Amino acid sequence: MRYDYLIVGAGFAGCVLAERLASQVDKKVLIVEKRSHIGGNAYDEYDENGILVHRYGPHIFHTNSKRVFEYLSQFTEWQFYEHKVLAKLGTELYPIPINRITLNKLYNLRLGSDLEVQQYLENVRDKRESISNSEDIIVDRVGTDLFNKFFKDFTMKQWGVEPKDLSPSVCGRIPVRTNEDCRYFTDRYQFMPRDGYTPMFQKMISNKNIELALNTDYKTILTDTKFNRLIYTGPVDYFFDYLHGILPYRSIRFEFENLERTHYQPVGQINHVESTIEFTRVAEYKFLTAQIASSTTISREYAQKVGEPFYPIPSNESRSIFHKYKKEISKLKNISFCGRLAEYQYYNMDQVVANSLLKFECLVK
Ligand code: FAD
Ligand code: UDP
Repeated sequence: MRYDYLIVGAGFAGCVLAERLASQVDKKVLIVEKRSHIGGNAYDEYDENGILVHRYGPHIFHTNSKRVFEYLSQFTEWQFYEHKVLAKLGTELYPIPINRITLNKLYNLRLGSDLEVQQYLENVRDKRESISNSEDIIVDRVGTDLFNKFFKDFTMKQWGVEPKDLSPSVCGRIPVRTNEDCRYFTDRYQFMPRDGYTPMFQKMISNKNIELALNTDYKTILTDTKFNRLIYTGPVDYFFDYLHGILPYRSIRFEFENLERTHYQPVGQINHVESTIEFTRVAEYKFLTAQIASSTTISREYAQKVGEPFYPIPSNESRSIFHKYKKEISKLKNISFCGRLAEYQYYNMDQVVANSLLKFECLVK
């Protein structure tokens, strides 16, 4: 058997490309996945207490792209969900992104309008001439005190480096609001797959043209498998046997706990922004999934250097290593790199879907 495509990785990038190639242009596809399941980092499953959990941390779908939303809607029904996050500082909880409520509560103020908040921030911000890192961007927006309280230690814990050593895009993802909007995202489409992510992926790759090999590192089957083109969605440095060195990725250890109570915390996610608490986020899945059950499951996240690569680390150092790999990629024929690890980009799920749809169009052009 000769496959038209060998796809490495059954996450969003791999599944979208497999689905398009199989259903739209009748290609025979083999997906090879080293884990024991599909879905990549968006994989979810019911735990032993019957609670639907995300095994690799809370995944909230949000997008402004009609195209991405409509594409995924072929494979799932949706459930409306707007994510809310509170930051824990001392014994108090504050809305994140920073908004009018955060400021009034933290500093005992009575800012009553967007304009008053704007004026307040104008007074406390520490204007930077150029924005070259994650410290610059936050201090420039809200000043040193808010940066120190909500960003400095949390970022250090999450990434293992200071905000000043990270691209502005990392902390710059989090807006600052002058109103009282406590939603984490303001995208047009904010929904969770009604039955979970895994059933959505299952439906995507249920085409008879698609075969799946789980628990398999693609390198172990390369010599015995015949295929015309390769699509790679794993870590780019691994593909090239670390020719230009190891790219830094951040990993996380997830500690799950089931509690015999209906709820544990007031919202789906609490960020522990102080250095004295070792973990970063605590997610409570029932908020995300709207599941009704007598017990609840939470996960605590401990960021770490070793382990499964989850986050590319956007910095000057990593950019220069990735650049060398990019040159290698451009020399290859019939091999495409797609997704968060292969493109070494801090993409959200919807960005990976959008890019994979574009990649498909390029492949069949
Ligand atoms: P992946 O999901 O990483 O899939 C790549 C697959 O390739 C993996 O299954 C891997 O096992 C497999 N693979 C790797 N190497 C090999 C090999 N050698 N052989 C075979 N298989 C291999 N995005 C959002 O939009 N909203 C969120 O709320 C959100 N929360 C997140 C929380 C966490 C903790 C993390 C880590 C990410 C989060 N993301 C979120 C980002 C989201 O997970 C990614 O954008 C998306 O899953 C990337 O899909 P992908 O297919 O590129 O990569
Ligand atoms: N961040 C922070 N404090 C917060 C929330 C975010 O310092 O309360 C910083 C931190 O560096 C984090 C980044 O902003 O990694 C992006 O946050 P986001 O919630 O988007 O992280 P992700 O969901 O991608 O892990």
